[in-house]
Amino acid sequence: MNKKMFPSRLLMGRLITIFVIVYMVLCHNYQNVHAKTMVSRSFYTMGTDLVFDLVCNDVDYCYQVIQKAHGEVLRLDKVFSNYRTDSELYRVVNSNHTYPVKISEDFFRLTAVSLFVNILSNGAFDITSGSLVDLWKNSSKNNIVPAASTITGLKTNCVGLKQLKVISVDMSLKFISACVDIDYGAIGKGFALDKISAILENAHVNNGIINFGGNVNAIGRNINGEKWNIKLRIPPSLENNVNIKDIYISDLSVSTSGGYERYYKINGKRYSHIIDPRTGYPVDNSKSVTVVSTDATIGDALSTAFSVMDIVEVKKLLDVLDNIGVLIISDNMKYENNYYKKLYIK
Ligand code: ADP
Ligand code: MG
Repeated sequence: MNKKMFPSRLLMGRLITIFVIVYMVLCHNYQNVHAKTMVSRSFYTMGTDLVFDLVCNDVDYCYQVIQKAHGEVLRLDKVFSNYRTDSELYRVVNSNHTYPVKISEDFFRLTAVSLFVNILSNGAFDITSGSLVDLWKNSSKNNIVPAASTITGLKTNCVGLKQLKVISVDMSLKFISACVDIDYGAIGKGFALDKISAILENAHVNNGIINFGGNVNAIGRNINGEKWNIKLRIPPSLENNVNIKDIYISDLSVSTSGGYERYYKINGKRYSHIIDPRTGYPVDNSKSVTVVSTDATIGDALSTAFSVMDIVEVKKLLDVLDNIGVLIISDNMKYENNYYKKLYIK
């Protein structure tokens, strides 16, 4: 009996040892694949920084997803860039304006959203501001404030909804006059962020934060399972304002517009890069507007629109917009709506 027991005990002992080793190896591998890690990558694209910080289970997989998302942004740059001569925008703007020109689906969609925000904002947000934007840019290079008559000329002939005809049946666009110039600078980054979020969602990467030149998409939660902590970009002159606090968000986008970082300098004076298309002149460059929204495209457009609109106009528009958080600060005022105040809670 004892003799029989001995070999089976030995076998049991060995089996237990093997089991423990296999278990340890498996656990080790499991942790490698499933331990959460932050994966960060940044690119310089569309003239600004694009930074990914993703919470990942599988680091290599996350890098692949980031590559894919970056590839999508490069593709969009070829559609909407007003610096590249090989972009769709360049081709459309420089086509013979007497005929409608075919546009891609992305071009069509972004133009449609832009026209929608133009109507909502009473013309404050306007993608046809391109000729005015260029005028101020060139005036800054030449150090001369543009003549009032030049501004009026552009406003009358080249700017405004009346200058565009979007033909939805066959996705084409027609300009009324030859001088119309389109600029997606105030909405394109938000559009790209929404595309990035869709790619991450499809790839089941559900937690991360993407910052695209001051436009942020906060997806899911941070590595500790908390909401994402957002520190606002605010003008240095307003930094000592004790009332400016961090916000905490999940599955929302944040867009900040302001004239303090990007501006034109003429005769030593700073002018905002945001133009009021209704007057043709740059807006108050001490103003900083932050918009929190589910849709990054709308948030980007609205933060520019609110930079142009006065506070009475902003409040009137907010009456008909649900789930939009707004913070506006300038040298002499601060405004935040109720939705925004709720974002202070961790
Ligand atoms: P940023 O690019 O600094 O985040 P915005 O999103 O507000 O700022 O976009 C500003 C850019 O949009 C300008 O540089 C210009 O190209 C363009 N733009 C300026 N004024 C307007 C306007 N009223 N409506 C639409 N686009 C504008
Ligand atoms: Mg914007």
